Amino acid sequence: MDTSVATPGTGSSFMQDHLDALSIRDPHQPEFLQAVQEVIVSLEPVIERYPHYGRQRVLERLLEPERVIQFRVPWQADDGSVHVNRGFRVGFNSAIGPYKGGLRFHPSVNLSILKFLAFEQVFKNSLTGQPIGGGKGGSDFDPRGRSHSEVMRFCQSFMTELFRHVGHNTDVPAGDIGVGGREIGYLFGQYKRITNTFTGVLTGRAPGWGGSLLRPEATGYGAVYFAAEMAGTQGQTLEGKRCLVSGSGNVAQYACRKLIELGGIPITLSDSSGWIHDPDGITEEKLQFVMELKNERRGRIAEYVERFTSATWAPVESEAEHHPLWCVPAEAAFPSATQNEINALDAAHLVEGGVRLVSEGANMPTTPDAQDTLVDAGVLLGPGKAANAGGVAVSALEMAQASQRLRWTTEEVDRHLKRIMHDIHAVCLDAAESYSFGSDYRHGANIAGFRKVANAMIDQGLV
Ligand code: NDP
Repeated sequence: MDTSVATPGTGSSFMQDHLDALSIRDPHQPEFLQAVQEVIVSLEPVIERYPHYGRQRVLERLLEPERVIQFRVPWQADDGSVHVNRGFRVGFNSAIGPYKGGLRFHPSVNLSILKFLAFEQVFKNSLTGQPIGGGKGGSDFDPRGRSHSEVMRFCQSFMTELFRHVGHNTDVPAGDIGVGGREIGYLFGQYKRITNTFTGVLTGRAPGWGGSLLRPEATGYGAVYFAAEMAGTQGQTLEGKRCLVSGSGNVAQYACRKLIELGGIPITLSDSSGWIHDPDGITEEKLQFVMELKNERRGRIAEYVERFTSATWAPVESEAEHHPLWCVPAEAAFPSATQNEINALDAAHLVEGGVRLVSEGANMPTTPDAQDTLVDAGVLLGPGKAANAGGVAVSALEMAQASQRLRWTTEEVDRHLKRIMHDIHAVCLDAAESYSFGSDYRHGANIAGFRKVANAMIDQGLV
């Protein structure tokens, strides 16, 4: 069946046509379809204003990844048993720079999830103002409960295929869920060994061997800077605000740290087994405990309440209708675990509990109807592709430092990060307002991210 899209006209059927064609072509990719739908609803007025985008079929081209690589990753466990996982790398769009985006190691990883993440990454990277295209990759390998040796052997096997497809001028992966400093180290070591080169092929490296200072902090810090910008439009700050944070990994940890620094009061954290509520607030000392627990001992967040008795822990049921974390009364929320972690019921609970601001540390953590519930209630919603862009922005700064063989100080990187988050916020608001979307950051992020990529695609011809 020919599922390519006919040369479109304009009007809402035009948008529906794209979604229908995509649903026929990729019927088993719900996360990808969701990510596309969230973007496409913003673009109708843009295509109307600039008809050459329609004539050049920019949207159709943008919806198709430039390339998708899938490969086998065999590896051996400590007990001698042999395992086989799937590896992927999606190069979605390279109109404004080499593919850039993280690697995710999690049992849920499949092509739909990676295409959604890579598609979002195209817009996010465009918003940073840095010369980076969009990509994403990973594996259904689960590093939890695996020894360091097992993780190393897996990473080496993964890179033994991936190395052909990446490179500092082609595709520059970084970390994501399940891929932190340890995994980046093993991946880089194998790349270096196979290629006999020491280049900036991966970001998120340790500062001692080419990494940028502040890269681990950047996503969480950036999400809080973005929240502060949103609060500033209403003459407010984050000081004294109780904040709900989900997850307890990289993004959640550094969102907490920046909140504490700015006078906010983080009161929750979670992992896939359960969540904690600390009504006294998570202080820097308590956060240090969490970092040691999660990053060194690779333990579960439930241990928090054994150490800090003011807090409570509760398990989460994977099939539950809602997540009780979002019922806790607070003024701001930072979803920082995974996609679709806030549904419409959760959103209603957030509104009831007094939340007026949501800054998405995770990618696509809020379902479309939950987003509508929040925005309709007047909650300021910073979409992930804008609010969590700080991580990839500092990755781009790491690439710049690596190519010049320079290292900037923490203060310099932080200054850049703050400015970039300020600029992303301003660009989103400006784009939303100029297309009559008021202060809806979702539309602003989609439109501003799209225009730069679309213009570059037109400049470069049919490639
Ligand atoms: P980490 O692996 O460091 O931490 C992820 C956290 O989320 C863990 O607490 C994990 O719990 C929890 N989690 C993961 N999957 C699920 C799930 N299916 N259900 C419930 N909890 C889950 O990842 P990051 O902090 O790096 O990433 C978090 C989010 O931020 C992701 O959406 C990622 O795409 C996004 N992001 C990350 C960036 C970065 O620089 N790292 C940049 C931009 C966005 P458990 O330990 O039980 O698995």
